[in-house]
Amino acid sequence: MKVMKFGGSSVGKPDAITRCAELVEREIKKSGEKPLVVVSAYSKITDLLLDAAGKAVKGDIEAPYAAIAKRHADMLNGLGLDETIGQKNLAELHDLLNGIHMVKEVTPRLYDFVASFGERLSSKTFAALMRKRGCADAEAVNAYDLGYVSDSRFMNARPLPETYESIAKAYEAHRGKLLVVTGFIAKDKNGDITTNGRSGSDFSASIFGAALEVEEVQVWKDVPGVLSADPTLIKDAQPLPRLSFEEASELAYYGAEVLHPATMVPAMRRGIPVRVLHTFDPDAPGTLITPEGVLDPAHPVKSIVYKEDQVLINVRSERMLGMEGFMARLFEIFARNGIVIDMISTSEVSVSLTTDITDEKRLEALKKDLLESSKVEIQREKCIVAIVGEGMKHTVGLAARAFTAVAKGGVSLQMISQGASEINITFLIDNSEIPKTIKSLHAEFFGK
Ligand code: ASP
Ligand code: MG
Repeated sequence: MKVMKFGGSSVGKPDAITRCAELVEREIKKSGEKPLVVVSAYSKITDLLLDAAGKAVKGDIEAPYAAIAKRHADMLNGLGLDETIGQKNLAELHDLLNGIHMVKEVTPRLYDFVASFGERLSSKTFAALMRKRGCADAEAVNAYDLGYVSDSRFMNARPLPETYESIAKAYEAHRGKLLVVTGFIAKDKNGDITTNGRSGSDFSASIFGAALEVEEVQVWKDVPGVLSADPTLIKDAQPLPRLSFEEASELAYYGAEVLHPATMVPAMRRGIPVRVLHTFDPDAPGTLITPEGVLDPAHPVKSIVYKEDQVLINVRSERMLGMEGFMARLFEIFARNGIVIDMISTSEVSVSLTTDITDEKRLEALKKDLLESSKVEIQREKCIVAIVGEGMKHTVGLAARAFTAVAKGGVSLQMISQGASEINITFLIDNSEIPKTIKSLHAEFFGK
């Protein structure tokens, strides 16, 4: 059995979602087995829902609600489906928005509750479409009714360890049917709905795939796989046929938008291949991600990615730095202020750290705490660039090639680091130098 996960753009319009239905039918014909389908919300619906939750606080309910309801109604009409599908969900959403207005507050828990309606609607539409097309036992199921239990970290929840067993058990009651499961959402032990972070449906697909020990998790997108660079900057960015789990995790972490960074974790546990495919060009090879990956001597660097809007924090402390326990205290201050550290480099008198937390208040609080022992300087609008590839372990002189290429473009590097795994080199630049930097690097490693 396979998991087939369809992203927001793939289910965003009647003709697109019809393509997905055809792909599921093709899979059933080819393998003789029904896949487990996992869906995202229709494209942009999650944004509309979160926006509606925020506006409800001030009593602005009807127009944002109507936009969501209309999107769903248009989808049902366009597919010729019964217009009662999802009506109960919409009524519940309307009540919920009124409730938020009454309490005049929207908490992370309520944001997740509101956001959940995107996947709860799209899964019902997808299952109804499959039934209409002749798959009589197609059924929409909420992930939390199929065993997915998460912790209570709203907006960024993670599965509890028992999830895998509980999914396998819950699935038995449905075996043989075509299930269409909601991506993105779960429930915690208290029964509150959680979400696993934006673009989290990939992660859900991988969790279900691991729990059911499927032969492959297919992630269907509106791009031809994982690319050698951001296609908005590099027109001839190349799709990557093969990646290792480690390469894919690094790429996702450092900003490749195709996969949610946590996606690889459950698949890795059970060694289940993840394949990224293009809904609108289904016979293209896509990207196959497997535990071992494949080395390509011509391309020791597989991909160049970047994460913009990072914050650089320089801490100087002439007296303290060499003293034992200084780093422990420094990290403790970051942890206390909820600032997640990304890159770090140290010299004799200073430590440079980066974070993607940009919230002014939290950074000010951090600065205040740090100032008790050090001089602190905070710089914004920085960007982490990462070049990633298993081949880098075996190739001498790659860092020199990368730095020379960037220097030729006149960009200065502000921090450099290489992980112990040696499959990535990361460095920090200004946001404004992203296009120049990525172009130089891509020409160096992928040019003719
Ligand atoms: N619908 C959610 C989002 O837009 C999850 C997903 O699409 O994967 O973030
Ligand atoms: Mg999405």
